[in-house]
Amino acid sequence: MRRHRNVKIVATLGPASNDYPMIRALFEAGADVFRLNMSHGTHDDIRARHVIIRQVEKDLGRPIGILADLQGPKLRVGTFAAGAHDLEDGDRFRLDLDPAPGDGHRVQLPHPEIFAALEPGATLLVNDGKIRLSVNTCGPDFADCTVVVGGTISNRKGVNVPDVVLPLAALSVKDRADLEFACELGVDWLALSFVQRPEDVTEARALARGRAAILSKIEKPAAVKAYDAILAVSDGIMVARGDLGVELPVHSVPPIQKRLIRGARAAAKPVIVATQMLESMIENPMPTRAEVSDVATAIYEGADAIMLSAESAAGKFPVEAVRTMDNVAMSVEKDSTYRSIIAASRIVSRTTVADGIVAAAREIAESTNIKVIACFTQTGTTVGLTARERPQVPIIALTPLVETARRIALTWGAHCVIVPEQERFKGAVLSAVQAALRDGFAKENDFIVVTAGVPFNVQGTTNILRVAPCDERLISKVDPG
Ligand code: PGA
Ligand code: MN
Repeated sequence: MRRHRNVKIVATLGPASNDYPMIRALFEAGADVFRLNMSHGTHDDIRARHVIIRQVEKDLGRPIGILADLQGPKLRVGTFAAGAHDLEDGDRFRLDLDPAPGDGHRVQLPHPEIFAALEPGATLLVNDGKIRLSVNTCGPDFADCTVVVGGTISNRKGVNVPDVVLPLAALSVKDRADLEFACELGVDWLALSFVQRPEDVTEARALARGRAAILSKIEKPAAVKAYDAILAVSDGIMVARGDLGVELPVHSVPPIQKRLIRGARAAAKPVIVATQMLESMIENPMPTRAEVSDVATAIYEGADAIMLSAESAAGKFPVEAVRTMDNVAMSVEKDSTYRSIIAASRIVSRTTVADGIVAAAREIAESTNIKVIACFTQTGTTVGLTARERPQVPIIALTPLVETARRIALTWGAHCVIVPEQERFKGAVLSAVQAALRDGFAKENDFIVVTAGVPFNVQGTTNILRVAPCDERLISKVDPG
């Protein structure tokens, strides 16, 4: 089984996508990576979904990526005696540490660190930014605010504080427990919410101890500012447009999306565009034209992956949503304008032998009739570099390590195949040819490009490029290796 597109699809699982038939149907419709959201559901729920994904992987014989998304330091107000209150523009409203149920004049905000960091004039946003409060006076345990934009405030609504770098630990006690649980379970990626500084990422990496790759969600103004430093210590990036559009003016999100994608592409690290991509499909079987255009834009920008949130986790049409993304991707990637945009936005910075080899592989493949680039990899780094070239032919990533294959499920254009440990280059070429023929990337007598590092099983040695015919007899005759 193979996909007929380069961009990958991430589908969030939830109450609407809990059982084997649905998760399998999502994969068959096009989901390459499943996202387990640690903000919702118990560890037992998460474990059950994990078991099902691995079963689908086994039954269909294709590696599947699993991304566990940690909640991070998400702020929430306490509860109200009446459940909810309407705040009018110009009202006074107080936030404090008192756990007593709130009313129309005050509510608890159970985060002393926030009060310590607030200053008069700072903005607090409640309920996805719908309510805007401006701080008049504040102390170590309260903030007296004016309601700038009113609305309904209710139990446990989220709070964003865009202006302030919060003196909060990147990982809450819950996040630490979730991280350990997810690593024990065996997820491939950990997504960190509300990253503010590069240290947040290195802290999580130390806890993960190589058991999962680390993806930083860019959803704070501070993270946008510190993007280069955060990218440098991350394995992947998510353009988390939901919170980004609350913390910053919503019209600033598209330029930020473009900049984040460019940066991640240049660094050869996968980047996901997330949130509200097909929002109306939570309720409807058809997307809006604007949503289709938004998905297409992310693909034209060269994102590695596009993501579904509530559409697949809690919507009425999860499979249709995945199928819609799959169709949009195939339609865009067939367009000649897509090819020219992708080629024009290629980020060239070649300093190593591996950089040169992947560039040569693309040049040879594109200027001749070669059908596929087959790339042997241990850690996935060479596949990232090959994908950075955004070649016009597909990439087959061959690895003996199932963990690597699953991580690469997020990488643009990479079709992952697990092969036995290679000893000699001849055998490697043969298994690349077999994979290309078997999975429908080439036919008998087509040619493929094979790249590898010899000796095998040593990290970071990509140093060989071979053009090989898809003819098993010919390989064994002409190749002395
Ligand atoms: P979330 O992150 O869905 O976990 O909030 C994505 C976003 O904010 O866009
Ligand atoms: Mn978010």
